[in-house]
Amino acid sequence: MSDDYTIPVDLKDGCCRSCGGELRIFDADDCILEVECANEECLDAYSVEPDAFGDGGITYWPRAMTLFCDAAGE
Ligand SMILES: [Zn+2]
Repeated sequence: MSDDYTIPVDLKDGCCRSCGGELRIFDADDCILEVECANEECLDAYSVEPDAFGDGGITYWPRAMTLFCDAAGE
């Protein structure tokens, strides 16, 4: 998994539910964002709602859909 294909989440928008660390979005579909913790001692990974980062689903999720759906050839 390359850093070229992850979207960092600003800590003011959301953080890891386990350790409070920085999250990166690494996949997305119509109704979820897949995130992973950037903290190498944690590396928790889980799914969240598209609007989980307090942006109403208009910032991270469209970027993620563009990035990951294009990468998948859809
Ligand atoms: Zn974490």
